[in-house]
Amino acid sequence: MPTDTLFAKIARREVPARIVYQDEAVTAFHDINPVAPTHILVIPNKIIPTMNDATDDDAALLGRLLLTAQKLARQIGIAEGGYRLVVNCNPDGGQSVYHLHIHLLGGRKMTWPPG
Ligand code: AMP
Repeated sequence: MPTDTLFAKIARREVPARIVYQDEAVTAFHDINPVAPTHILVIPNKIIPTMNDATDDDAALLGRLLLTAQKLARQIGIAEGGYRLVVNCNPDGGQSVYHLHIHLLGGRKMTWPPG
């Protein structure tokens, strides 16, 4: 397990980011390279490198990540139009930052399948 990550530094406010929500377990901030009009990352404050590293003990935390994304989508006003939640895992999944995160993407029509 890594002892520190870029996103953990963002959660501790040691690296600047446009944080839109934070509580004791979860932080959400704007992606630095947005691929949609809304592109927010929702992370656990604790380090879980990939989806493969989540355990049954993290079940409630994973639920909080999803519900945080849902609430942010409502607040932003994209809930009714729709949005996409994405978790990339490892190289084939396209993961580049090894601190679990949910991408909240919205504000445009998404295509399927993803590339
Ligand atoms: P992934 O490829 O799923 O690991 O997604 C990582 C995301 O983190 C990418 O969409 C990046 O644009 C984003 N990212 C990388 N560095 C930062 C940063 N310092 N602040 C905000 N978002 C970042």
